[in-house]
Amino acid sequence: MWDMPYKARDVSVILMILRVLNKRMKLSEDEHWYYLNQEKGFRGEIQFDILTEKLKRDCYILNDLQLESSTSSFQLDSTLIFQETCSLFDVKNYEGEYIYDAEYFKTIGGRDIQNPLDQLKRSKLLLNNLLQSLGSKLTIEAYVIFINPQFTLYQTPPDLPIILPTQLDAFIRKLDQKPSRLNQSHKNLADKLISLHQTVPPKIQVPNYSYEAMKKGLTCCKCDSFSVTIVGKKLICGECGCEELVTVSVMRNVEEFKLLFPEQKITTNVIHEWCGVVDSRKRISRVLRKNLKITGLGQWAFYE
Ligand SMILES: [Zn+2]
Repeated sequence: MWDMPYKARDVSVILMILRVLNKRMKLSEDEHWYYLNQEKGFRGEIQFDILTEKLKRDCYILNDLQLESSTSSFQLDSTLIFQETCSLFDVKNYEGEYIYDAEYFKTIGGRDIQNPLDQLKRSKLLLNNLLQSLGSKLTIEAYVIFINPQFTLYQTPPDLPIILPTQLDAFIRKLDQKPSRLNQSHKNLADKLISLHQTVPPKIQVPNYSYEAMKKGLTCCKCDSFSVTIVGKKLICGECGCEELVTVSVMRNVEEFKLLFPEQKITTNVIHEWCGVVDSRKRISRVLRKNLKITGLGQWAFYE
């Protein structure tokens, strides 16, 4: 039996912005590295989701929660509510050989990484405060999960809440043996945590960018290529041959624009320039009119 997550995982706002920036501007080496790491982290979380969804025991699976407790915000990759425990998991998709150290995991010749247990302790404490304020008596368990089979951590003390790739199967089996009689109070807690989730984290770390530096134009929905042409009602990609309705691709690119420039008003002129390849302003105007709500008149009209 596959257990669907009670709260599904979405691509984070940060990763969505980074994907568009990577497509439309030249990221510096560090920024590009940061972007690839975000992608990699997300892939690792998805891999862990596959494991938790296979659990046969009843539990509420809450993927990706951004919460606040006593004015401190914290993010939880994966939270599982069982009968007696609330288990939180910080998923790391690191690869390579590291040596355990209380402060940093050391590597030979690469970038050292901060010991994720500090972050875990903080999350655990903040979640504990939050659960207490919500009147929950569940015990909190917290683990760092190293999901990548290519990851090794030498000299890891055995009593730490660290799950290495070689221990993962056994760990999941153990989770599957937890008592699992859930009642309304568990559901209430799951619903409450979801209601407290903030879709946009308070601090978004993304590279600086400007409208001018962005490459304008419609892009292929499959391969991100700018080599697209309009034939009739369709946008056809010169790279991969993918076809998409022009209406759909204009709206997809409007979403990208809104993501990068949430303060900017959506007007026909702005989107006409942003989409580049569409010759006719009228066509853009038609698409916007059909999909968004118009406010104002004539040259002052904008869309919401
Ligand atoms: Zn393509």
